Amino acid sequence: MNQLFIHPRLGKKAAAFLAREHKLLIGGKWLPARSGKVFDTYDPGTGRVIARVAEGDAGDIDLAVNAAREAFENGPWGRITPSDRGKMIWRLADLLEQNADEIAELEALNNGKSLSTARNSDVPLSADLFRYMAGWATKITGETLSISTPGTYHTFTVREPIGVVGQIIPWNGPLAMATWKLAPALATGCTVVLKPAEQTPLTALRLGELIQEVGIPDGVVNIVTGFGHTAGAAIAAHPGIDKVAFTGSSEVGRIIVKAAAGNLKKVSLELGGKSPVIVFPDADMSVAVPGVTQGIFANSGQVCTAGSRLFAHKKVFDRVVEGIAEQASKIRVGHGLNDGTQMGPVISQVQMERVSDYIEQGRAAGATVAAGGGRVGDEGYFLEPTILTDTNPEMSVVREEIFGPVLCAMSFDDDDLDRIAKQANDSIYGLAGSIWTRDLSTAHKMARRIRAGRIGVNVHGSTDAAIPTGGFKESGWGREKGHEGLHLYTEVKSVIVAL
Ligand code: ADP
Ligand code: MG
Repeated sequence: MNQLFIHPRLGKKAAAFLAREHKLLIGGKWLPARSGKVFDTYDPGTGRVIARVAEGDAGDIDLAVNAAREAFENGPWGRITPSDRGKMIWRLADLLEQNADEIAELEALNNGKSLSTARNSDVPLSADLFRYMAGWATKITGETLSISTPGTYHTFTVREPIGVVGQIIPWNGPLAMATWKLAPALATGCTVVLKPAEQTPLTALRLGELIQEVGIPDGVVNIVTGFGHTAGAAIAAHPGIDKVAFTGSSEVGRIIVKAAAGNLKKVSLELGGKSPVIVFPDADMSVAVPGVTQGIFANSGQVCTAGSRLFAHKKVFDRVVEGIAEQASKIRVGHGLNDGTQMGPVISQVQMERVSDYIEQGRAAGATVAAGGGRVGDEGYFLEPTILTDTNPEMSVVREEIFGPVLCAMSFDDDDLDRIAKQANDSIYGLAGSIWTRDLSTAHKMARRIRAGRIGVNVHGSTDAAIPTGGFKESGWGREKGHEGLHLYTEVKSVIVAL
């Protein structure tokens, strides 16, 4: 086996974490995969192996589901008061903050994102979401119902935890995605089998250690690292799992739905997007240009809500595109752990080739590369922030989710909001969108017309814990975060008492 690469910029704690053995967390114990197999995990900034992780598969998922079932039905978790549950979740946020430097370094190294993004955004936002959900633990309530059935009744609803939950997450925000899934499941009293993405298992494993440290009982959170077609598929199909929550590609979302049909487990999905960004001629360009730039190039475009289809009014199209191109040219692309890096690599060789192939398809179909378009350097998987103009809705680059730093720009020459909305809504997806205008009436009328789960006005979006996120159309089922996010993890029970 090759020597593991220890990046010279890593702190002592992160380096020590990498040097540990990375096993599966099942029933409160760290176990090797039953097969004994391990797999490599990489630094996308160098392409080098940084750790080896246990390769869980169906057998390990089985053990984890049994542990989660036992913890749900017979463990102390069900008897812990909501207040104490909330306190444990809150303490988890404290521990994330206490270990923020180490966790941010691991996140930046494994995912590629800049250390400053990981340290100032991913880690604090995850802590914030745990705290937000910790507060809900004591506020999960039902209703008292007035029924008209003849007789005298006391009728009410309660919301009970849905049970054992399988959670499958992607690589674009490994810690944040684990948090979006775990926080509401813990707040509602569920137990969990979590599978991180095979590309980015590290921060979820570190989170598993913190979960043990705060005293969340054994078996409540089980973490099985492994591949999608083995461990992931076993979660989706497992008859002992009551609900599966998935974030990832629409292609895999469909596979999950089919697999879940076996025991008709509940399913929530956060899938792809191709979010429209609509710039009206009266927009404040000093706000719109940096906002649109950030909306597509943040996290190297590997964000499901990325604003990847720009529609700018003909009167301002050139100004908007030139403005974004100028900003894009100043984005410092580099290794996530380097000082001053603003945009890191994409996640893998496969992803770099996929994105490059899309740019090529766009070119071949007549698009103009107005900015970027190429690879940066020859080590790691770095791509330039890219803008394609002369694009149209027939092109694959406009229709399909690229999940990379590529903006497709189109213009409109119209004042009819219905027609503008029709263009913006011409997508199988409906995850997000943004509208840039100073006109309050245009803003609200457009916000109503865009068929998507999250609309920004003079901002592309927000990562706040209170804001539900999820999709219309093929972007998914259900909403995560916010109060809505809790509903994914509870069953409603009606109780009718004849008095
Ligand atoms: P990408 O192709 O960009 O990696 P995916 O949707 O394939 O995105 O991956 C998101 C998550 O889904 C990962 O954790 C991955 O392991 C998992 N996954 C992939 N294929 C399957 C599958 N057939 N069943 C269940 N989970 C899967
Ligand atoms: Mg895939």
